[in-house]
Amino acid sequence: MQKDNQGKPVRVRFAPSPTGELHVGNIRTALFDWAYARHTGGTFIFRIEDTDTERVTPEYIQAAINTLKWLGLDWDEGPEVGGPNGPYLQSQRLDIYAEWAAKFLAQGDAYHCYCSSEELEAVREEQRKANVAPGYNGHCRNLTDAQIAEYVAQGRKPIVRMRMPDGSTTFTDLIRGEVTFEHKFVPDFVLVRNDGSPLYTLAVAVDDVLMNVTHVLRGEDLLSSTPRQLRVYDAMGVKPTDYPLFAHLPFVMGQDNAKLSKRNGETSIAWYRDAGYLPEAICNYLALLGWSPGEDRENVTMTELTELFTVERVHSSPARFDMKKLEAINGDKIRALTLDEFFSWAMPFLLKSGTATSSDSDVALVKKALPIIQERITTLSEIPGLLNFLFVKEFAIEAESAAKIADEASKQVLAISAERLSSLAEWNHAAIEEVLRKALIEELGLKPRIAFSALRIAVTGSHISPPLFESMELLGTQTSLARIKAAL
Ligand code: GLU
Repeated sequence: MQKDNQGKPVRVRFAPSPTGELHVGNIRTALFDWAYARHTGGTFIFRIEDTDTERVTPEYIQAAINTLKWLGLDWDEGPEVGGPNGPYLQSQRLDIYAEWAAKFLAQGDAYHCYCSSEELEAVREEQRKANVAPGYNGHCRNLTDAQIAEYVAQGRKPIVRMRMPDGSTTFTDLIRGEVTFEHKFVPDFVLVRNDGSPLYTLAVAVDDVLMNVTHVLRGEDLLSSTPRQLRVYDAMGVKPTDYPLFAHLPFVMGQDNAKLSKRNGETSIAWYRDAGYLPEAICNYLALLGWSPGEDRENVTMTELTELFTVERVHSSPARFDMKKLEAINGDKIRALTLDEFFSWAMPFLLKSGTATSSDSDVALVKKALPIIQERITTLSEIPGLLNFLFVKEFAIEAESAAKIADEASKQVLAISAERLSSLAEWNHAAIEEVLRKALIEELGLKPRIAFSALRIAVTGSHISPPLFESMELLGTQTSLARIKAAL
């Protein structure tokens, strides 16, 4: 069986059916397709499989396009960019599938099946009772002209079924090795519904051939559809040595070892975007789901991913989704941003939450404040909460925190701090720290955690905040003092 693509330039495709927002599993597939294309200098094709018009909507298609763009997975052929093998929306290729279905019928590879859905259901019921593998029983495989005429006279509208020969199909999966399917478990399958619309198996195989796809990297859930696709290639007259090569990526499991789904984890990429994950962190983390760069490395840039990605390094065993690891990688990627980049990522979160405006003064303050929190956050969505104290018009201390500074010791800390700070000549974090350490730690003998926690609450309104002295410097003398006095 074919194991390499005979030196042809690599062409891989990502072919989602957007019946909802793209999820973690889809994107892991898209990422591997993209990385493989970029690694080999090949072509990355983005094809929308939207023949299921009831479930795929224009909004979901647009969302899929936007998600790939947002992640930086740029495509060489596909929606918006076009290409020599378009259109790239299957709904615009229906005549192509109809032509091939007609050809298969004429060749005898496919046949019209007149069984009604009730009849098919009755067959399935029999099979269930007899405990045999479910599937079409071949009733319409060899109808006589008279039988066909009778069905037509009854007004039955046929579907088109592919004839599956006896025997088996063997192919070499680039991740799993040799895989064999016995055809007794691959019954004659439907290519075209009785309303003329094509099914996935027909459209996917026809397009992979016509778009000269050399590699099909996709989820393991599609492994069992491969023998049917190979059957379609065969009917199209493609030589086995010219079939695309298949690589079925391992499932992504949730923490509970069940397949990752909405039920056991957050699967929507849109959710991660809104929660403040960087595209590069998502890609880095998803790359580790089933692949490894080697040498125990976990942090890779997009460029390194394209340099290092090979199908040989993809594992066949399922990968487990680990939110903690994604958070850690996101924190690393945030810390690696330049200040300008960090500002560009942070600003939308501050604007959306209403924390800051795009006025010059707010922008200037955001730019000064960001360095003091860059080291401490794991997601961008933490930014508004941490910086709110700098912008808030009606400052108030959180109730839970206010209770913590109601004692005598706290009052003493606040009173002395107010007094010493008001005579401070220069308002910067080093000077603020020096005078406060002297007064509270050296003179009063307090533990830093206790002394500074009361001040933190008074000045920022919360016991969780960016570094205290830097926060006070940003807030300025007047506001800082006013807040300490107000707290008293
Ligand atoms: N459109 C199919 C799906 O979203 C995948 C097609 C393929 O990769 O072969 O499940």
